Amino acid sequence: MTAKIIDGKAIAAELRGRVADASHRLARDRSLVPGLAVVLVGNNPASEVYVGSKTKMAVGSGMRSFDHRLPETVSEADLLALVGRLNSDPVVHGILVQLPLPAHIDAQKIVAAIDPRKDVDGFSPTNAGMLTTGLPALVPCTPLACVILAKTVRPTLEGLEAVVIGRSNIVGKPLVQLLLAENATVTIAHSKTRDLPDVCRGADLLFAAVGRPEMVRGHWIKPGATVIDVGINRLPGEGGKSRIVGDVAFEEARTAAGALTPVPGGVGPMTIACLLANTVRAACALAGLPPPTFELPKSSD
Ligand code: NAP
Repeated sequence: MTAKIIDGKAIAAELRGRVADASHRLARDRSLVPGLAVVLVGNNPASEVYVGSKTKMAVGSGMRSFDHRLPETVSEADLLALVGRLNSDPVVHGILVQLPLPAHIDAQKIVAAIDPRKDVDGFSPTNAGMLTTGLPALVPCTPLACVILAKTVRPTLEGLEAVVIGRSNIVGKPLVQLLLAENATVTIAHSKTRDLPDVCRGADLLFAAVGRPEMVRGHWIKPGATVIDVGINRLPGEGGKSRIVGDVAFEEARTAAGALTPVPGGVGPMTIACLLANTVRAACALAGLPPPTFELPKSSD
């Protein structure tokens, strides 16, 4: 079997196109330009790359982007004060504080200070609680990306056995909630799970969000399963450069899975597209307008 490769780049471009259309319509009909504020503390090279792409794509989708770069030494009080100003700024509809933050800052405190209506990362306790209780929420972008990508090849997830490896607050746990909402039967695995390969072999849908390069091997995958690889791991590459691999051993997986996301070019670009979609949703909600839907076409192959 050779897996269908789920082209996250192309699907993300399509979603960004829909978001841009909605954004332009809001500007034309309501004089409302969705605004995304991105806060970056310090000089983490990976964070700088992510923030750069988010800012560029927000502008490319017809939004305003507000970049706030703060030194590594910024105090927690100053960062909280900035979040407070962004909360009350009417041209800012989405606020994203890029994680990780330096050790002297309590990231949970910062995230909890973001107005839940502007929390486009969906990490605040309010949005996490609303998602868990089935209320309309701003949903974390990476789990949302995973479900949208899975549904491009499995139009309905109802009744499917899903295994999520990883239980972080930003990926694993919200992904479980989204899968439950799709009526999948969900198992969440983590570092203390016994016989992980055997657990994975039961999965029609396998999501790997671990942060361990190529941990999921081909023989862990049920033939024909849909595999969504969230991992972003940097390994030393040729000529002193680094290369990025996922949590799934791609070449092995492609002979076992029915469909598979590549790394890079899978979940990563889709996560940014979902962030832009959340910013438009937040702008509409703050203006008292109905939330737009950004339905993507589904394939059944
Ligand atoms: P995290 O907070 O470090 O969580 C990792 C999870 O993996 C934990 O629940 C941990 O279990 C589990 N784990 C670790 N070793 C394991 C093992 N040997 N067997 C089974 N489970 C194991 O990581 P995260 O923030 O969720 O991110 C996970 C990966 O996704 C990283 O590579 C990250 O870079 C990537 N990521 C990508 C995107 C994107 O846009 N594509 C976005 C976010 C994250 P315990 O809870 O027991 O410790």
